[in-house]
Amino acid sequence: MIAMNFRGPFRVRADRDKPIPEIEHPNDAIVKVLRSCICGSDLHLYHGLVPDTRVGSTFGHEFVGEIVEVGSSVQNVKVGDKVIVPFNIACGKCAFCRQELFGNCHESNPEATAVGGIFGYSHTAGGFDGGQAEYVRVPYADVGPTVIPDWMDPDDAVLLTDVVPTGYQAAEMGGILPGDTVVVFGAGPVGIMAAKCAWLFGAGRVIVIDQLDYRLEFVQKFAQCEAYNFNYLGDVVEFIKHTTDSLGADVCIDAVGCEAAGDAMNTLLGRKLLLQGGTTTALHWAINSVKKGGIVSIVGVYGPVNALVPIGNVVNKGITIRANQASVKRLLPRLIEHVKNGVLSPKDMITHRIPLHEVAEGYHIFSAKLDNCIKPVLIPS
Ligand SMILES: [Zn+2]
Ligand SMILES: [Zn+2]
Repeated sequence: MIAMNFRGPFRVRADRDKPIPEIEHPNDAIVKVLRSCICGSDLHLYHGLVPDTRVGSTFGHEFVGEIVEVGSSVQNVKVGDKVIVPFNIACGKCAFCRQELFGNCHESNPEATAVGGIFGYSHTAGGFDGGQAEYVRVPYADVGPTVIPDWMDPDDAVLLTDVVPTGYQAAEMGGILPGDTVVVFGAGPVGIMAAKCAWLFGAGRVIVIDQLDYRLEFVQKFAQCEAYNFNYLGDVVEFIKHTTDSLGADVCIDAVGCEAAGDAMNTLLGRKLLLQGGTTTALHWAINSVKKGGIVSIVGVYGPVNALVPIGNVVNKGITIRANQASVKRLLPRLIEHVKNGVLSPKDMITHRIPLHEVAEGYHIFSAKLDNCIKPVLIPS
């Protein structure tokens, strides 16, 4: 089959002869992929920033497809079902899954103590091949896969695997109270969705900060929010304080993670010298521009090792920090309702449709932010 193949930092290609995956466990399913996305967090893999990303692996944690084979114990889905597959791989039975912490499953990635299994996201996240391929093996098929309703466009469905739940959970973790000012750092797909969802929780003002004008223009329209380019703001933290009666924002959301721009020293330590688990500029800005007693919600991806954060400011301001990988399965029922009712229209974020065999070009366009790219989708032929 055709599958994306990682060859090393900034090098991927489409392989034509990767074996079609087989059932390895009675609760596996094999899914024929209809759509898969390239995610901003795939770029961290592509750029060589995620530990134990092995040559030959296939990325892709955002995919929908049709079930073509099931293991002998699978009961909740059947051959022919078209399914949304959450990016988290979860057993559904461990103590963490029972708390609906499906991103922290203890069984799907037993070698790790932090993150559960994730499709196509390095051996740090379990070493599972992902969905940037024609077929993918889906473990725990009774747990994650959710049948796509008849009325749902597959373009909306594929964004329910990660972008929508992650953006929604970012806003949810912010504990937004009616009238709150919410600042979202990052106007990538997740930040765009977080800004949109902030209103659903009652925000009174939503501000997005990024440095790409085309994305700022997009989010302004898509999420009806304010949007500012940090390159023109001078001191970002001062700007936010100034525009919030000097108190700071009620809630700050970090939707950037380990490749943030905007601070030369942080970039040097986190991206050039790899002395910390990513560049923490957006997180610094979030902590320093939230009000005393405010909440910082983190969904940006950071490496598992140490990173420099202004912890003294967290303590002295009494900030609450909430963070996690989105618990996709927990959120899917209400997000499907939001799509059905027209509250959310995620497919409007898709700017590029790329044949799977041109996956290398897709990564290049998305990584280099060419052609006003916001969200690229790969289509197997
Ligand atoms: Zn993703
Ligand atoms: Zn589990």
